[in-house]
Amino acid sequence: MTTDQSYYYWLEQFVHAITRLPEIDLKQVFSALTELCKLFRVCKGVTCFYDNEQKEAEKDGEVFVCYDSGEAGAPVLVKRLVTAANTVVTVTAYQTKEAAPFTDQERERVELILQMILTFMSQDRLKKIIKRMTCYDSDGFRNLQYLFREFDRLAKAGLLSGMAAIHFNLKHFSLINHQFGRPGGSAVMRAYVRRMEQALGENGSVYRLGGDNFVALCRQASMPQLLDCLRGESIAVDCPEPKEVTVSAVAGIFIVPQGFQYRTPGDIMNPITTAYQVAKANRGEDIIYYSEQFDLEKEKVIRIKHAFQNALAAGDLLTYYQPKVQVDSGEIIGAEALCRWRQGGRIVMPMEFIPVLEQGIEICELDFYMLDRVCQDLKRWLERKLRVVPVSVNFSRRHMIDPGLFEHIVEVIDRNGIPHALIDIELTETTTDVEFTALKRLVSQLHQAGISTSVDDFGVGYSSLNLIKEIPWNVLKLDRTLLPSQANRGRGSQMFRHVVALAHEIDMLCVAEGVETPDQLATLRENGCHIAQGFYYDKALPIEAFEQRLKQPYYRK
Ligand code: C2E
Ligand code: CA
Ligand code: CA
Repeated sequence: MTTDQSYYYWLEQFVHAITRLPEIDLKQVFSALTELCKLFRVCKGVTCFYDNEQKEAEKDGEVFVCYDSGEAGAPVLVKRLVTAANTVVTVTAYQTKEAAPFTDQERERVELILQMILTFMSQDRLKKIIKRMTCYDSDGFRNLQYLFREFDRLAKAGLLSGMAAIHFNLKHFSLINHQFGRPGGSAVMRAYVRRMEQALGENGSVYRLGGDNFVALCRQASMPQLLDCLRGESIAVDCPEPKEVTVSAVAGIFIVPQGFQYRTPGDIMNPITTAYQVAKANRGEDIIYYSEQFDLEKEKVIRIKHAFQNALAAGDLLTYYQPKVQVDSGEIIGAEALCRWRQGGRIVMPMEFIPVLEQGIEICELDFYMLDRVCQDLKRWLERKLRVVPVSVNFSRRHMIDPGLFEHIVEVIDRNGIPHALIDIELTETTTDVEFTALKRLVSQLHQAGISTSVDDFGVGYSSLNLIKEIPWNVLKLDRTLLPSQANRGRGSQMFRHVVALAHEIDMLCVAEGVETPDQLATLRENGCHIAQGFYYDKALPIEAFEQRLKQPYYRK
């Protein structure tokens, strides 16, 4: 086709597309516009729609990109129209610097096309279509903009109070994608959302935030159906072969209270996001209703993290030492460093701040700070020729993502000139394969460097025999819950005995934590566990008290 022929052909297509009744053929509009842009070396065509001239001045309108080659360009032709309803429409054509400028004839032709776009844009019907287009994402799901408009509409109509807003994320969706491929995964997602919308009927809709994150907005009448869907729906998949897959979701729910003053979308998005985050962090319950308490906790986290940085700088984080004792001789043969936070005259226990610090990387700062403090204390004792014992330092699982962890630990110990044999690193079990690999590597490296390692809290959480079989630990620290109690004496002490025997079999030292009573100590003796740590001997002691202890390192037997 000659250029002229192309022009007339695509112009005709374009006119056809925008005048087709009853429904404009958008696909055809786009393909015609694309060809016309290419023909005239236009790299981008943009239409803007403003509710009035003031909005135009503020650039507060809807932007609709008709074509975009992706190249950077400058505006070369602009058409503007103020409609009878005072709305303003502009259409702009862009060309790149390199593109040959329009000839006179081309300019006329481009102007004509822009004029046609303008005319149709200014018509209400097209505006509605644009609105519709900006309300759905490329996969056909209602989008965030749609949701926000809905908030607005419901608020204005006084219908928002009593409604439920739900932020949900599909569980294990990457697995579904992996199993059925991306197209299969998308089909499952569409089917699930469709199922949910059917369940909601006239009472609500589902909007996609992006990826596999959605918001549902519905009247409470349909909550039971919605909850059913969230808890799990069986979806049929065809590829590669017919199969059923159960899709469920983790969700945060906010019931808009009576008399709720809606101002911005954040008024609803914030509570549902908060509740969703709580649900995500919560291993037990996948569906959580928002409570103001969550916000208070969030504030608490921010406050603690902030105060923690000040405490680090001010030296308000103290190292306490809890002795580890040889049961037979009553001799102190080691200690565990435990952190305390001095706040004014009060000593704050780790349980009040460690779980918060563990949510971020702050815990890593604390652990290295503690290691450094322990090394400084050991150095002082060595210089003063005091008796010293090996000290354990707790290291959080959070460190496992740090590839330079081993080097960093050794650097701190060597910088302080501390013999490696005086440091033990306590680590807890891990849950993921990636962490397991990192843990195994770290423990092996420490082992080679002559730094001892302990499995902390063995017997609770995710203990696995694999963990102690495959990694060259030195010490197994039995959690206090593993100590036989009055209630479970029989089975409890059998368990205890076997775990101790197992540790010894694979050449690990065994330390029983939380030994409080003479009875418990007797259990240790009976079952061959030679080292104890617990209130029976001492609590974690401030440094001066611990130094005194080291001067008389034997407890009465
Ligand atoms: P953990 O590592 O299991 O430390 C032992 C905890 O048990 C300590 O609590 C200790 O005071 C307590 N304990 C010792 N003997 C007894 C006993 O006979 N009976 C009872 N009921 N409890 C006993 P603490 O000092 O409150 O520390 C709690 C946890 O905080 C620690 O548990 C550890 O997980 C964490 N933690 C403390 N300091 C640090 C640190 O510097 N870094 C890291 N990552 N975690 C730390
Ligand atoms: Ca510990
Ligand atoms: Ca422990």
